[in-house]
Amino acid sequence: MKKISIVVPCYNEQEVLPLFYEEIKKVMTQIQQAHADTTFELLFINDGSRDGTLSELRELAKKDEIVRYISFSRNFGKEAGMYAGLENATGDYVVIMDADLQHPPAFLPQMYEIVLSGEYDCATTRRVSRKGEPKLLSWFSRKFYKIMNKISQTEIVDGAQDFRFMTRQMVDSILSMKEYNRFSKGIFSWVGFRTKYIPYENVERAAGTSTWSFWKLFRYALEGFFAFSTAPLTISSVLGIISCLVAFIMIIVIIIKKICFGDPVQGFATLMCVIFLMSGLQLFCVGIAGQYLAKTYLETKRRPIYLVSETEADVRKASKS
Ligand code: UDP
Ligand code: MG
Repeated sequence: MKKISIVVPCYNEQEVLPLFYEEIKKVMTQIQQAHADTTFELLFINDGSRDGTLSELRELAKKDEIVRYISFSRNFGKEAGMYAGLENATGDYVVIMDADLQHPPAFLPQMYEIVLSGEYDCATTRRVSRKGEPKLLSWFSRKFYKIMNKISQTEIVDGAQDFRFMTRQMVDSILSMKEYNRFSKGIFSWVGFRTKYIPYENVERAAGTSTWSFWKLFRYALEGFFAFSTAPLTISSVLGIISCLVAFIMIIVIIIKKICFGDPVQGFATLMCVIFLMSGLQLFCVGIAGQYLAKTYLETKRRPIYLVSETEADVRKASKS
């Protein structure tokens, strides 16, 4: 027997959950027709939703044995949701997918075949177009991937998504990375293993709204830089060295000028500009160092990545008694 765990992080997804459940059930039957020895587990992570997501999940868990859920005590973010899912999944294979049907369940049979073939440890989709996304956002995304891949040793594939079909071995490797500041796009790639990318066209959300604003994405991008590269630190050191060199040259020039021509007091404006530029640069570089220090601070606290308030075991117990 082989078990596939499907992990679904949900934040305010009450509208799409019934649609998602219906779709995924269809695909499960389809897979079981081809592979009779396959069983499923559907593990929803309720990431502190403020709508009816939790009661929707309770209903699903009551009527369907394969449905499990973990409900967080508050919103911890999608990264924490994915981690909780991987940690609690019991399958031989684990799938991570969004609840909003932007990760079409129809890909699952194909992904299963790819991983079963033994040639790959992971199958994932890769967006080939950014249709339906604001132009400015696309531009920033492309720039992000370009810079990221220049300054980081870990390759971050443009258009790669969190829709993944993985073997137990790969999941355990990901779980061995206990870091608190989680940047999954980097983590998936850092652990290595053979990954198959399936190209596909972007689809719109089935219902509800995306919670990712421009600023949230921008912060996420910065998170990526600081989590998977120390290049900003190098850049700030290099900037320091360059300004020292410039200052040194200026000192020599001024001394020579003084000796050869005497020195009328001049150049107040230049002086002010240099002072402003230099103090700005210093603050900028201290800021970069501070970012890493802040991350280190958070890591050393060793706080849990998520906290659970309720699971499917609670409703099942309650409905039995
Ligand atoms: N999500 C989550 N916690 C959050 C934000 C989002 O678990 O704080 C889930 C959400 O329910 C969805 C997935 O992450 O299943 C992707 O979110 P969304 O569709 O808002 O992002 P987008 O597809 O626009 O990148
Ligand atoms: Mg989405």
